[in-house]
Amino acid sequence: MTHAPAFRTTHFINGQWSPESDNTFDDCNPLTGEVIASIAAGGRAEGDAAVAAAHAAFPAWAAMTPGERQSLFLKAADITERRHDDAVHLMAVEAGTARAFASFQVRLSANLMRQAASWGYLPYGDLLKSDTPGRMAMVARKPLGVVAGFTPWNGAFYLGWRTFVLPMAFGNTVVIKPSEEAPLSAGLLHAEILEEAGFPAGSFNVVTHAPRQAEPIADAFFESRAVRSINFTGSDKTARILGARAGQTLKRMVLELGGFNPMIILADADLDEAAKAVNFGAFFHQGQICMNTRKVYVAREIHDAFLDRLAARTNSLKAGDPLEAGVVIGPLINDRAVAQTKERLAEALSKGARLVTGGSCDGRVFQPTILANVPQDVLATQGCDETFGPLLVVEAFDDPEQALADAQDTPYGLSAAIMTGNAARGLDMAQRFDTGIVHVNGATMAGEASLPNGGVKDSGWGRSGHYAVEDFTEIRLTTVTSKPGHYPF
Ligand code: ADP
Repeated sequence: MTHAPAFRTTHFINGQWSPESDNTFDDCNPLTGEVIASIAAGGRAEGDAAVAAAHAAFPAWAAMTPGERQSLFLKAADITERRHDDAVHLMAVEAGTARAFASFQVRLSANLMRQAASWGYLPYGDLLKSDTPGRMAMVARKPLGVVAGFTPWNGAFYLGWRTFVLPMAFGNTVVIKPSEEAPLSAGLLHAEILEEAGFPAGSFNVVTHAPRQAEPIADAFFESRAVRSINFTGSDKTARILGARAGQTLKRMVLELGGFNPMIILADADLDEAAKAVNFGAFFHQGQICMNTRKVYVAREIHDAFLDRLAARTNSLKAGDPLEAGVVIGPLINDRAVAQTKERLAEALSKGARLVTGGSCDGRVFQPTILANVPQDVLATQGCDETFGPLLVVEAFDDPEQALADAQDTPYGLSAAIMTGNAARGLDMAQRFDTGIVHVNGATMAGEASLPNGGVKDSGWGRSGHYAVEDFTEIRLTTVTSKPGHYPF
Protein backbone atom coordinates (compact mmCIF):
# COMPACT_ATOMS: atom_id res chain seq x y z
CA MET A 1 0.00 0.00 0.00
CA THR A 2 1.68 3.24 -1.01
CA HIS A 3 -1.22 5.58 -0.44
CA ALA A 4 -1.19 7.85 2.56
CA PRO A 5 -3.78 6.96 5.17
CA ALA A 6 -6.56 9.55 5.31
CA PHE A 7 -4.82 12.68 6.50
CA ARG A 8 -6.24 16.17 6.51
CA THR A 9 -5.04 18.03 3.42
CA THR A 10 -6.33 21.58 3.85
CA HIS A 11 -4.99 24.59 5.74
CA PHE A 12 -5.47 24.69 9.49
CA ILE A 13 -6.26 28.25 10.52
CA ASN A 14 -7.75 29.46 13.80
CA GLY A 15 -8.73 25.98 14.91
CA GLN A 16 -10.53 25.12 11.64
CA TRP A 17 -9.65 22.98 8.66
CA SER A 18 -10.35 25.09 5.58
CA PRO A 19 -12.98 23.69 3.18
CA GLU A 20 -11.83 21.47 0.32
CA SER A 21 -11.39 23.41 -2.91
CA ASP A 22 -10.12 22.76 -6.43
CA ASN A 23 -7.03 24.79 -5.74
CA THR A 24 -4.70 21.93 -4.88
CA PHE A 25 -1.37 20.41 -5.86
CA ASP A 26 -0.19 16.82 -6.09
CA ASP A 27 1.84 15.42 -3.23
CA CYS A 28 3.86 12.57 -4.75
CA ASN A 29 5.76 9.54 -3.52
CA PRO A 30 9.43 10.24 -4.41
CA LEU A 31 10.03 6.55 -5.15
CA THR A 32 7.12 5.80 -7.46
CA GLY A 33 5.85 9.22 -8.54
CA GLU A 34 2.35 8.18 -7.44
CA VAL A 35 0.12 10.93 -6.12
CA ILE A 36 -0.47 10.23 -2.42
CA ALA A 37 -2.66 13.25 -1.69
CA SER A 38 -4.05 16.50 -3.13
CA ILE A 39 -2.96 19.33 -0.87
CA ALA A 40 -4.46 22.82 -0.56
CA ALA A 41 -2.47 25.38 -2.54
CA GLY A 42 -2.49 28.51 -0.39
CA GLY A 43 -1.30 32.02 -1.03
CA ARG A 44 -1.28 35.48 0.46
CA ALA A 45 -4.87 35.40 1.76
CA GLU A 46 -4.28 32.19 3.72
CA GLY A 47 -0.95 33.47 4.98
CA ASP A 48 -2.59 36.68 6.21
CA ALA A 49 -5.46 34.78 7.85
CA ALA A 50 -3.07 32.44 9.64
CA VAL A 51 -0.98 35.33 10.95
CA ALA A 52 -4.12 37.16 12.12
CA ALA A 53 -5.32 34.05 13.95
CA ALA A 54 -1.97 33.53 15.66
CA HIS A 55 -1.85 37.21 16.62
CA ALA A 56 -5.34 37.08 18.14
CA ALA A 57 -4.52 33.89 20.05
CA PHE A 58 -1.22 35.20 21.42
CA PRO A 59 -2.35 37.05 24.59
CA ALA A 60 -4.31 34.10 25.96
CA TRP A 61 -1.62 31.54 25.02
CA ALA A 62 1.13 33.70 26.56
CA ALA A 63 -0.93 34.12 29.73
CA MET A 64 -1.57 30.41 30.28
CA THR A 65 0.07 28.96 33.38
CA PRO A 66 3.04 26.65 32.90
CA GLY A 67 0.91 23.79 34.20
CA GLU A 68 -1.85 24.38 31.65
CA ARG A 69 0.61 24.38 28.77
CA GLN A 70 2.42 21.39 30.24
CA SER A 71 -0.68 19.21 30.20
CA LEU A 72 -1.28 20.08 26.53
CA PHE A 73 2.27 19.15 25.50
CA LEU A 74 2.08 15.90 27.46
CA LYS A 75 -1.18 15.00 25.71
CA ALA A 76 0.35 15.82 22.32
CA ALA A 77 3.31 13.55 23.14
CA ASP A 78 0.97 10.65 23.93
CA ILE A 79 -1.02 11.18 20.72
CA THR A 80 2.19 11.36 18.72
CA GLU A 81 3.25 7.98 20.07
CA ARG A 82 -0.19 6.53 19.39
CA ARG A 83 0.11 7.70 15.77
CA HIS A 84 3.58 6.20 15.34
CA ASP A 85 2.57 3.90 12.50
CA ASP A 86 0.71 6.64 10.59
CA ALA A 87 3.70 8.94 10.85
CA VAL A 88 6.21 6.27 9.81
CA HIS A 89 4.12 5.25 6.82
CA LEU A 90 3.59 8.85 5.81
CA MET A 91 7.28 9.71 5.98
CA ALA A 92 8.04 6.68 3.78
CA VAL A 93 5.56 7.49 1.04
CA GLU A 94 5.95 11.27 1.14
CA ALA A 95 9.64 11.82 1.90
CA GLY A 96 11.30 8.46 1.12
CA THR A 97 12.22 7.99 4.78
CA ALA A 98 13.31 4.51 5.79
CA ARG A 99 11.59 2.96 8.78
CA ALA A 100 14.46 3.22 11.27
CA PHE A 101 14.82 6.96 10.79
CA ALA A 102 11.08 7.60 10.68
CA SER A 103 10.48 5.63 13.85
CA PHE A 104 13.36 7.43 15.55
CA GLN A 105 11.79 10.76 14.60
CA VAL A 106 8.49 9.79 16.22
CA ARG A 107 10.20 8.80 19.48
CA LEU A 108 12.36 11.92 19.44
CA SER A 109 9.31 14.11 18.84
CA ALA A 110 7.43 12.71 21.84
CA ASN A 111 10.58 13.12 23.89
CA LEU A 112 10.92 16.76 22.78
CA MET A 113 7.33 17.51 23.79
CA ARG A 114 7.78 15.90 27.21
CA GLN A 115 10.86 18.02 27.82
CA ALA A 116 9.26 21.18 26.49
CA ALA A 117 6.32 20.54 28.80
CA SER A 118 8.55 21.60 31.71
CA TRP A 119 10.17 24.64 30.13
CA GLY A 120 7.42 26.93 31.31
CA TYR A 121 8.83 26.38 34.81
CA LEU A 122 12.38 27.42 33.98
CA PRO A 123 13.60 30.52 35.84
CA TYR A 124 12.63 33.38 33.61
CA GLY A 125 14.55 36.34 34.89
CA ASP A 126 16.96 38.00 37.31
CA LEU A 127 16.86 40.62 40.02
CA LEU A 128 19.64 43.15 39.51
CA LYS A 129 21.23 45.69 41.81
CA SER A 130 20.68 49.28 40.79
CA ASP A 131 22.84 52.34 41.47
CA THR A 132 19.67 54.34 42.09
CA PRO A 133 18.86 54.34 45.84
CA GLY A 134 15.71 52.40 46.66
CA ARG A 135 15.36 50.93 43.19
CA MET A 136 14.79 47.29 42.43
CA ALA A 137 15.46 46.17 38.86
CA MET A 138 13.78 43.08 37.46
CA VAL A 139 14.72 41.45 34.18
CA ALA A 140 12.07 39.04 32.94
CA ARG A 141 11.80 37.00 29.79
CA LYS A 142 8.64 37.27 27.77
CA PRO A 143 7.49 35.65 24.53
CA LEU A 144 7.97 37.50 21.28
CA GLY A 145 4.48 37.18 19.78
CA VAL A 146 3.88 35.30 16.53
CA VAL A 147 6.71 33.11 15.22
CA ALA A 148 6.52 32.05 11.56
CA GLY A 149 8.15 28.69 10.82
CA PHE A 150 9.39 27.10 7.60
CA THR A 151 9.55 23.35 8.18
CA PRO A 152 11.78 21.14 5.98
CA TRP A 153 11.05 17.88 4.17
CA ASN A 154 14.13 15.90 5.21
CA GLY A 155 13.66 15.29 8.93
CA ALA A 156 10.08 16.28 8.24
CA PHE A 157 8.27 15.02 11.31
CA TYR A 158 10.81 15.79 14.03
CA LEU A 159 12.05 19.05 12.55
CA GLY A 160 8.40 20.00 12.10
CA TRP A 161 7.82 19.46 15.81
CA ARG A 162 10.94 21.42 16.65
CA THR A 163 9.53 24.34 14.68
CA PHE A 164 6.19 24.22 16.53
CA VAL A 165 7.27 23.24 20.01
CA LEU A 166 10.25 25.47 20.78
CA PRO A 167 8.47 28.79 20.24
CA MET A 168 5.17 27.56 21.70
CA ALA A 169 6.79 26.26 24.88
CA PHE A 170 8.02 29.77 25.61
CA GLY A 171 4.59 31.35 25.07
CA ASN A 172 4.63 32.29 21.39
CA THR A 173 1.94 31.35 18.90
CA VAL A 174 2.97 29.99 15.51
CA VAL A 175 2.19 29.94 11.82
CA ILE A 176 3.87 27.12 9.94
CA LYS A 177 4.57 26.80 6.25
CA PRO A 178 5.72 23.26 5.53
CA SER A 179 7.99 22.45 2.62
CA GLU A 180 5.99 21.67 -0.51
CA GLU A 181 7.91 18.36 -0.66
CA ALA A 182 6.32 17.07 2.56
CA PRO A 183 3.26 19.12 3.53
CA LEU A 184 1.68 16.25 5.45
CA SER A 185 4.62 14.94 7.42
CA ALA A 186 6.14 18.41 8.00
CA GLY A 187 3.00 20.21 9.21
CA LEU A 188 -0.50 18.94 8.59
CA LEU A 189 -0.12 15.77 10.67
CA HIS A 190 1.20 17.96 13.50
CA ALA A 191 -1.93 20.10 13.23
CA GLU A 192 -4.10 16.99 13.56
CA ILE A 193 -2.23 15.98 16.70
CA LEU A 194 -2.28 19.43 18.31
CA GLU A 195 -5.98 19.80 17.51
CA GLU A 196 -6.75 16.47 19.15
CA ALA A 197 -4.64 17.41 22.18
CA GLY A 198 -6.84 20.48 22.65
CA PHE A 199 -4.43 23.31 21.91
CA PRO A 200 -6.44 26.55 21.70
CA ALA A 201 -7.70 27.81 18.34
CA GLY A 202 -5.15 30.08 16.66
CA SER A 203 -2.21 29.05 18.86
CA PHE A 204 -0.84 27.07 15.90
CA ASN A 205 -1.75 27.43 12.24
CA VAL A 206 -0.54 25.64 9.12
CA VAL A 207 -0.70 26.95 5.56
CA THR A 208 0.44 24.88 2.59
CA HIS A 209 1.37 25.93 -0.93
CA ALA A 210 2.13 24.50 -4.36
CA PRO A 211 5.74 23.87 -5.47
CA ARG A 212 7.75 27.07 -5.96
CA GLN A 213 4.81 29.15 -4.68
CA ALA A 214 6.22 29.96 -1.25
CA GLU A 215 6.67 33.67 -1.80
CA PRO A 216 3.13 34.99 -1.25
CA ILE A 217 2.98 33.21 2.10
CA ALA A 218 6.46 34.44 2.97
CA ASP A 219 5.23 37.94 2.06
CA ALA A 220 2.42 37.56 4.59
CA PHE A 221 4.99 36.64 7.25
CA PHE A 222 7.47 39.38 6.50
CA GLU A 223 4.95 42.16 5.94
CA SER A 224 3.02 41.59 9.16
CA ARG A 225 4.09 43.51 12.25
CA ALA A 226 2.59 40.74 14.37
CA VAL A 227 5.25 38.27 13.17
CA ARG A 228 8.28 38.85 15.37
CA SER A 229 10.57 36.06 14.29
CA ILE A 230 11.14 33.79 11.30
CA ASN A 231 12.25 30.26 12.19
CA PHE A 232 13.74 28.78 9.01
CA THR A 233 15.19 25.35 8.27
CA GLY A 234 16.45 24.93 4.72
CA SER A 235 19.29 25.86 2.40
CA ASP A 236 21.67 28.76 2.90
CA LYS A 237 20.72 29.90 -0.61
CA THR A 238 17.08 30.50 0.41
CA ALA A 239 18.18 31.80 3.82
CA ARG A 240 20.09 34.60 2.09
CA ILE A 241 16.92 35.67 0.26
CA LEU A 242 14.85 35.53 3.44
CA GLY A 243 17.63 37.15 5.46
CA ALA A 244 17.63 40.14 3.14
CA ARG A 245 13.90 40.48 3.71
CA ALA A 246 14.37 40.14 7.45
CA GLY A 247 16.88 42.97 7.19
CA GLN A 248 14.37 45.18 5.45
CA THR A 249 11.55 44.38 7.86
CA LEU A 250 13.77 44.15 10.97
CA LYS A 251 12.65 40.67 11.96
CA ARG A 252 14.60 38.30 14.11
CA MET A 253 15.55 35.00 12.47
CA VAL A 254 16.55 31.55 13.58
CA LEU A 255 18.38 29.71 10.82
CA GLU A 256 19.16 26.00 10.71
CA LEU A 257 20.99 25.56 7.40
CA GLY A 258 23.38 23.16 5.74
CA GLY A 259 26.70 21.72 6.81
CA PHE A 260 29.84 20.01 5.52
CA ASN A 261 30.48 18.05 8.73
CA PRO A 262 33.97 16.62 8.47
CA MET A 263 35.17 13.60 10.43
CA ILE A 264 38.86 13.27 11.41
CA ILE A 265 40.09 9.76 12.18
CA LEU A 266 43.38 9.74 14.05
CA ALA A 267 45.83 6.85 13.74
CA ASP A 268 44.96 5.52 17.21
CA ALA A 269 41.22 5.24 16.50
CA ASP A 270 39.30 1.98 16.77
CA LEU A 271 38.79 1.16 13.09
CA ASP A 272 35.50 -0.67 13.53
CA GLU A 273 34.03 2.13 15.60
CA ALA A 274 35.22 4.65 13.02
CA ALA A 275 33.73 2.64 10.13
CA LYS A 276 30.41 2.33 11.97
CA ALA A 277 30.26 6.05 12.75
CA VAL A 278 31.14 7.08 9.20
CA ASN A 279 28.82 4.61 7.53
CA PHE A 280 25.94 5.87 9.65
CA GLY A 281 26.92 9.55 9.59
CA ALA A 282 27.38 9.69 5.84
CA PHE A 283 24.44 7.61 4.64
CA PHE A 284 21.71 8.24 7.19
CA HIS A 285 18.58 9.27 5.25
CA GLN A 286 20.59 8.77 2.06
CA GLY A 287 22.77 11.81 2.82
CA GLN A 288 19.92 14.29 2.97
CA ILE A 289 20.40 15.59 6.50
CA CYS A 290 22.31 18.77 7.30
CA MET A 291 24.53 16.85 9.76
CA ASN A 292 25.57 14.03 7.41
CA THR A 293 29.32 13.46 7.15
CA ARG A 294 30.48 14.71 3.74
CA LYS A 295 34.23 14.20 4.09
CA VAL A 296 36.48 11.98 6.16
CA TYR A 297 40.13 12.81 6.87
CA VAL A 298 41.92 9.63 7.89
CA ALA A 299 45.52 9.10 9.03
CA ARG A 300 47.50 7.70 6.11
CA GLU A 301 48.80 4.67 8.01
CA ILE A 302 45.27 3.38 8.61
CA HIS A 303 43.65 4.77 5.44
CA ASP A 304 43.48 1.55 3.43
CA ALA A 305 42.42 -0.65 6.33
CA PHE A 306 39.74 1.86 7.31
CA LEU A 307 38.45 2.13 3.76
CA ASP A 308 38.14 -1.67 3.50
CA ARG A 309 36.08 -1.85 6.68
CA LEU A 310 33.94 1.12 5.72
CA ALA A 311 33.26 -0.24 2.23
CA ALA A 312 32.25 -3.63 3.68
CA ARG A 313 29.68 -1.93 5.91
CA THR A 314 28.42 0.38 3.20
CA ASN A 315 28.04 -2.47 0.72
CA SER A 316 25.71 -4.21 3.13
CA LEU A 317 23.23 -1.29 3.28
CA LYS A 318 19.95 -2.25 1.67
CA ALA A 319 18.59 0.38 -0.71
CA GLY A 320 15.13 0.55 -2.27
CA ASP A 321 11.54 0.99 -1.12
CA PRO A 322 11.54 2.43 2.42
CA LEU A 323 8.38 0.44 3.17
CA GLU A 324 10.31 -2.80 2.67
CA ALA A 325 11.79 -4.43 5.76
CA GLY A 326 15.52 -3.87 6.17
CA VAL A 327 15.77 -1.00 3.69
CA VAL A 328 17.80 1.88 5.14
CA ILE A 329 18.48 3.80 1.93
CA GLY A 330 15.31 5.15 0.32
CA PRO A 331 14.91 7.37 -2.74
CA LEU A 332 16.26 10.90 -2.99
CA ILE A 333 13.55 13.49 -2.64
CA ASN A 334 13.34 14.67 -6.26
CA ASP A 335 15.03 14.64 -9.65
CA ARG A 336 17.04 17.75 -8.84
CA ALA A 337 18.67 15.95 -5.92
CA VAL A 338 19.47 12.94 -8.14
CA ALA A 339 20.92 15.19 -10.85
CA GLN A 340 23.10 17.08 -8.38
CA THR A 341 24.52 13.89 -6.87
CA LYS A 342 25.15 12.41 -10.34
CA GLU A 343 26.87 15.59 -11.54
CA ARG A 344 29.12 15.79 -8.49
CA LEU A 345 30.06 12.11 -8.87
CA ALA A 346 30.71 12.45 -12.61
CA GLU A 347 32.90 15.49 -12.06
CA ALA A 348 34.98 13.67 -9.45
CA LEU A 349 35.42 10.57 -11.62
CA SER A 350 36.28 12.59 -14.71
CA LYS A 351 39.06 14.31 -12.78
CA GLY A 352 40.57 11.05 -11.59
CA ALA A 353 38.84 10.19 -8.29
CA ARG A 354 38.62 6.50 -7.39
CA LEU A 355 35.20 4.94 -6.89
CA VAL A 356 35.47 2.76 -3.79
CA THR A 357 31.88 1.60 -3.80
CA GLY A 358 28.43 2.61 -5.07
CA GLY A 359 28.00 5.02 -7.94
CA SER A 360 24.87 3.57 -9.51
CA CYS A 361 21.36 4.92 -9.38
CA ASP A 362 18.05 3.17 -10.05
CA GLY A 363 15.31 5.73 -10.53
CA ARG A 364 15.84 7.98 -7.55
CA VAL A 365 17.50 5.35 -5.40
CA PHE A 366 21.18 6.25 -5.31
CA GLN A 367 23.57 3.62 -3.97
CA PRO A 368 25.68 4.93 -1.09
CA THR A 369 28.88 6.03 -2.75
CA ILE A 370 32.44 6.44 -1.47
CA LEU A 371 35.18 8.26 -3.34
CA ALA A 372 38.92 8.24 -2.60
CA ASN A 373 41.92 10.04 -4.16
CA VAL A 374 39.70 12.97 -5.02
CA PRO A 375 41.51 15.95 -6.61
CA GLN A 376 41.12 19.24 -4.74
CA ASP A 377 39.35 21.04 -7.59
CA VAL A 378 36.29 18.78 -7.33
CA LEU A 379 33.10 20.29 -5.86
CA ALA A 380 32.26 17.25 -3.73
CA THR A 381 35.48 17.64 -1.76
CA GLN A 382 35.66 21.38 -1.40
CA GLY A 383 33.09 22.02 1.30
CA CYS A 384 31.76 25.17 -0.30
CA ASP A 385 28.41 23.71 -1.38
CA GLU A 386 27.02 20.60 0.29
CA THR A 387 26.05 17.65 -1.89
CA PHE A 388 22.65 16.60 -0.54
CA GLY A 389 22.95 12.92 -1.37
CA PRO A 390 24.84 9.75 -0.42
CA LEU A 391 28.27 10.82 -1.67
CA LEU A 392 31.22 10.60 0.71
CA VAL A 393 34.82 11.68 0.12
CA VAL A 394 37.62 9.96 2.05
CA GLU A 395 41.06 11.59 2.11
CA ALA A 396 44.36 10.52 3.70
CA PHE A 397 46.34 12.95 5.87
CA ASP A 398 49.91 12.97 7.21
CA ASP A 399 49.58 15.77 9.75
CA PRO A 400 46.55 15.91 12.07
CA GLU A 401 46.96 19.67 12.55
CA GLN A 402 46.81 20.15 8.79
CA ALA A 403 43.72 17.91 8.65
CA LEU A 404 42.07 20.08 11.32
CA ALA A 405 42.86 23.21 9.31
CA ASP A 406 41.66 21.66 6.03
CA ALA A 407 38.49 20.34 7.63
CA GLN A 408 37.58 23.88 8.62
CA ASP A 409 38.25 25.42 5.26
CA THR A 410 34.53 25.61 4.57
CA PRO A 411 31.92 28.32 4.95
CA TYR A 412 29.76 25.89 6.93
CA GLY A 413 30.06 25.27 10.66
CA LEU A 414 27.40 22.85 11.79
CA SER A 415 28.88 19.58 13.05
CA ALA A 416 32.25 17.79 13.12
CA ALA A 417 33.66 14.64 14.66
CA ILE A 418 36.99 13.16 15.73
CA MET A 419 37.69 9.46 16.28
CA THR A 420 40.61 8.68 18.55
CA GLY A 421 41.73 6.27 21.26
CA ASN A 422 42.92 9.29 23.25
CA ALA A 423 39.88 11.21 24.43
CA ALA A 424 42.00 14.05 25.88
CA ARG A 425 43.62 14.60 22.52
CA GLY A 426 40.22 14.45 20.86
CA LEU A 427 38.89 17.02 23.29
CA ASP A 428 41.80 19.33 22.58
CA MET A 429 41.11 19.17 18.84
CA ALA A 430 37.37 19.47 19.40
CA GLN A 431 37.81 22.78 21.22
CA ARG A 432 39.50 24.16 18.12
CA PHE A 433 36.66 23.28 15.73
CA ASP A 434 34.67 26.33 14.66
CA THR A 435 31.33 24.50 14.55
CA GLY A 436 28.14 24.53 16.60
CA ILE A 437 28.56 20.82 17.42
CA VAL A 438 31.57 18.54 17.70
CA HIS A 439 31.60 14.91 18.79
CA VAL A 440 34.65 13.01 20.02
CA ASN A 441 34.13 9.32 19.23
CA GLY A 442 30.70 9.65 17.68
CA ALA A 443 29.14 10.29 14.29
CA THR A 444 28.63 13.87 13.03
CA MET A 445 24.96 13.02 13.02
CA ALA A 446 23.34 12.71 16.43
CA GLY A 447 19.91 13.64 17.63
CA GLU A 448 18.83 14.21 21.20
CA ALA A 449 15.94 16.52 21.89
CA SER A 450 17.56 18.03 24.98
CA LEU A 451 20.89 18.92 23.38
CA PRO A 452 21.38 22.21 21.53
CA ASN A 453 21.62 21.67 17.79
CA GLY A 454 22.63 24.52 15.59
CA GLY A 455 25.49 25.96 13.60
CA VAL A 456 27.88 28.85 13.18
CA LYS A 457 29.03 30.66 10.01
CA ASP A 458 26.89 29.75 6.95
CA SER A 459 25.19 26.94 8.87
CA GLY A 460 23.01 29.53 10.57
CA TRP A 461 22.29 30.56 14.14
CA GLY A 462 19.96 29.69 16.97
CA ARG A 463 19.88 26.55 19.13
CA SER A 464 17.36 23.87 19.96
CA GLY A 465 16.63 22.30 23.35
CA HIS A 466 15.86 24.67 26.21
CA TYR A 467 18.62 26.97 24.91
CA ALA A 468 15.97 28.10 22.41
CA VAL A 469 14.75 30.37 25.17
CA GLU A 470 17.36 32.82 23.85
CA ASP A 471 15.79 32.72 20.39
CA PHE A 472 12.11 32.78 21.26
CA THR A 473 11.91 35.22 24.13
CA GLU A 474 13.06 38.76 24.75
CA ILE A 475 13.79 40.43 28.02
CA ARG A 476 12.02 43.33 29.61
CA LEU A 477 13.56 45.50 32.30
CA THR A 478 11.10 46.65 34.97
CA THR A 479 12.14 48.83 37.89
CA VAL A 480 10.36 49.77 41.09
CA THR A 481 11.71 52.66 43.20
CA SER A 482 10.68 53.14 46.81
CA LYS A 483 12.53 56.41 47.57
CA PRO A 484 12.12 59.95 46.20
CA GLY A 485 13.89 60.35 42.88
CA HIS A 486 16.89 62.60 42.13
CA TYR A 487 16.78 64.01 38.62
CA PRO A 488 19.33 66.35 36.99
CA PHE A 489 16.66 69.01 36.34
P1 ADP B 1 15.31 22.57 0.23
O1 ADP B 1 16.25 22.52 -0.93
O2 ADP B 1 15.77 21.79 1.39
O3 ADP B 1 13.87 22.37 -0.11
P2 ADP B 1 15.06 25.36 0.26
O4 ADP B 1 15.95 26.31 0.95
O5 ADP B 1 15.00 25.36 -1.21
O6 ADP B 1 15.45 23.97 0.85
O7 ADP B 1 13.59 25.56 0.76
C1 ADP B 1 13.29 25.66 2.12
C2 ADP B 1 11.97 26.33 2.28
O8 ADP B 1 12.00 27.64 1.76
C3 ADP B 1 10.82 25.62 1.61
O9 ADP B 1 9.74 25.61 2.53
C4 ADP B 1 10.50 26.49 0.41
O10 ADP B 1 9.12 26.46 0.13
C5 ADP B 1 10.91 27.86 0.91
N1 ADP B 1 11.35 28.78 -0.14
C6 ADP B 1 12.14 28.51 -1.19
N2 ADP B 1 12.37 29.62 -1.92
C7 ADP B 1 11.70 30.63 -1.29
C8 ADP B 1 11.54 32.05 -1.54
N3 ADP B 1 12.11 32.64 -2.57
N4 ADP B 1 10.78 32.75 -0.68
C9 ADP B 1 10.22 32.17 0.39
N5 ADP B 1 10.34 30.85 0.67
C10 ADP B 1 11.07 30.09 -0.15
